[in-house]
Amino acid sequence: MNSVSPVKKEIILNGIPASPGIAVGTAYLFTKEIPRVEERELDGESCEPEIERMKTAIQKSAKELNKILGFARQKVGEAKARIFEAQIMILEDAVLLESLTKRVRTERKNAEYIVSTEIGKYAKLMLAAHDEYMHERAHDIDDLRNRIIRNLQQEKLISKLDGSPIIVAHSLTPADTMILSRNKVLGYATDLGGITSHAALFSRSLKIPAVVGLGDVSREVAAGDKLIIDGYGGTIVIHPSQERLAEYEAKQQRFARFEADLSQLKELPPVTTDGHTIELSANIELAEELEYVVLQGSQGVGLYRTESLLMGRDDFPSEEEQYQEYKKVADRLYPHRVIMRTFDIGGDKLASETAEEANPFLGWRGIRISLDRPDLFLQQLRALLRASTRKNMAIMFPMISTIGEVHLAKQFVEQAKAELRAKKIKFDAKLQVGVMIEVPSAALNAGPIASLVDFLSIGSNDLTQYLLAVDRGNSLVSNLYQAFDPAVLITLKHVINSGHKHGKWVGICGELAGNPVATALLIGLGMDELSVVPGILPEIKKIIRAMNYTDMQSVARKVLGMSASEEVESHLRDFLKQQCPDIPLEHNSIPITIH
Ligand code: PEP
Ligand code: MG
Repeated sequence: MNSVSPVKKEIILNGIPASPGIAVGTAYLFTKEIPRVEERELDGESCEPEIERMKTAIQKSAKELNKILGFARQKVGEAKARIFEAQIMILEDAVLLESLTKRVRTERKNAEYIVSTEIGKYAKLMLAAHDEYMHERAHDIDDLRNRIIRNLQQEKLISKLDGSPIIVAHSLTPADTMILSRNKVLGYATDLGGITSHAALFSRSLKIPAVVGLGDVSREVAAGDKLIIDGYGGTIVIHPSQERLAEYEAKQQRFARFEADLSQLKELPPVTTDGHTIELSANIELAEELEYVVLQGSQGVGLYRTESLLMGRDDFPSEEEQYQEYKKVADRLYPHRVIMRTFDIGGDKLASETAEEANPFLGWRGIRISLDRPDLFLQQLRALLRASTRKNMAIMFPMISTIGEVHLAKQFVEQAKAELRAKKIKFDAKLQVGVMIEVPSAALNAGPIASLVDFLSIGSNDLTQYLLAVDRGNSLVSNLYQAFDPAVLITLKHVINSGHKHGKWVGICGELAGNPVATALLIGLGMDELSVVPGILPEIKKIIRAMNYTDMQSVARKVLGMSASEEVESHLRDFLKQQCPDIPLEHNSIPITIH
């Protein structure tokens, strides 16, 4: 008798799209036992050999990480690889080694226990911070601890895989992602992980589709299960049906065709069918993204988030180090422009050096920190000015909320210029200085602010969160974060008109700029520049080139009169579909940026 195996039920899980792309493959369950640590008493004579054993395990861990570092530098570039340098530095820290050694001698406990508790202290401190970035760094420290303990227990981790699997894991550390990527990995799916996790960042650099934050994918999936991973929409399909496979295959082909089609736009200008030209530039976080930005046909960089220089380190880069980085960016983009945003620290980004703040988004953040720390601010401004000699750089300030702050920030620019002049160091004396409009008070005061600066750039991510009083990173209220709320639209219009009244150009660099549904609205409202995540740039260019400016103005006027976000969005969606039918709207086409 023939036995037919039952068809397994299809399961669909939704998570966070962390790296775009679609893949179909079989699951490899990457499980990593967290090493069990027992507490053992030592007799006096065993202490020294135990210390030796501990030192050997630490050295072995450093050697492993050095290997990963070398590989990461090749694959994802110097800046992103820095996370491993940070781990190696901890391992080589003489103070840490001394306290570990001292504790083994005085407490007479085994090395696993001492390493676990000592390094665990750092992770606990980081976990106590109300900050997703710090939580991710706590995982990195945990990973370091587990590595040493595994080496103490002489366990080996799997790094070679058969075939081309989709990796399913509870969580992945940056080192796991790097090591596993030496195989032909088709995708990553994890239970945990936020968009700021380095695993997410690395999969984007490696161009491997990834979905994170899936809850319990590692329990739902068994090794060898057939899977679809959709890194555009953030979906995983387990045991896909034949129809589902066909659907995704068609989707995959559609995207491939669409992307090939877009690449032909590279050399063409972003101009509407009736001749209205927009400046279309890209947002970047790291110099490593420059090649991709150039490849995508960007006219320049409308937002360079300089605070990314601080990632993976706890000190500030020196003026020289900053200068080298800024110059690299300006040189590569020349003759196109790069707008450097001064450090936007605080909020949900990088922990500031202070203790906890009850409301970090309303606290010490952005320009507020720069103005309170003139030494650091001047250092950054000097580095930027020195790198401006090709005359293709502009500077802008984040989180401006008062006119007084604009005056003060400009005074610092003048002081930095004077210091350079005194040393006969060259810079672009005509460098444009602008302000980000991302706080409602600044939006209301856009007129007087525009009179003081060369341009305004709207930070719609923060502007929306502050206008609607909805935390941009809190999933409990994410349904209230309405990018097309009439209040947002009225504010955009007011800022654009105020800038233009003073003869200044106005751009937008929040995620809204890269939302295809918003393109007609933004340009119709009079926006002069759109700065978008590099992955979406060709699509936005295609939309601009397919539409008529006069029609965009009418659609903007029409939606400005509407009273609900849903109504605005649906009207804009219909307009886009009608004007540009081949834009695939069903996917979440806005790649995630790390803020
Ligand atoms: C914004 O707030 O819209 C913006 C571009 O800045 P960030 O996302 O870095 O806060
Ligand atoms: Mg912002």
